[in-house]
Parts: sequence; C-alpha cells; structure tokens
Amino acid sequence: MVPSIDGELCNGCGNCIEVCPPQAIHLKDETAYIEIDFCEECGLCAAECPVMAIKIIFPRSTDPHTH
Ligand code: SF4
Ligand code: SF4
Repeated sequence: MVPSIDGELCNGCGNCIEVCPPQAIHLKDETAYIEIDFCEECGLCAAECPVMAIKIIFPRSTDPHTH
C-alpha cells in the first residue's frame, strides 16, 4: 500500500526525500508529497519521518493497533 503524508504534521525536514530509493517524494510549500506512480512501497520514508507524518495503510490488516 502506498504511504500517505499528513500535511498537518509534516515539517518539511526532507528526511523522507533523502531515503526514498525511486525519488518519489518531493516538497511543495514545505510539505512533502508522494508521487504515487513512482512509489515502490518500501516503507523507508515512514521509518525516517521524525514526526510520524507518513502513514502506511495495510488494507488487509486486521490489527486494531495499526494506525
Ligand atoms: S514507500 Fe519507499 S518508494 Fe514509496 S515514497 Fe516511501 S520511501 Fe519512497
Ligand atoms: S520526513 Fe516527515 S516531516 Fe520530514 S519532510 Fe518527510 S513527511 Fe515531512
């Protein structure tokens, strides 16, 4: 599942941009956004975000603790 970035939380630090292998993440008005077509769903961006603005939703997960 492609991750989504919460623009309210993102502080524009750019960590996610640096770690994204296909360079699918860009900044717009100091908020990161993902070009879905290029995302390889590796999850690295979510792991690097200091404010946990990036969420990856696993549609088939039944874990109630998954955010
Ligand atoms: S999941 Fe991987 S490929 Fe997709 S935006 Fe994040 S770092 Fe880039
Ligand atoms: S790592 Fe998080 S806070 Fe930093 S630019 Fe990416 S989404 Fe925004």
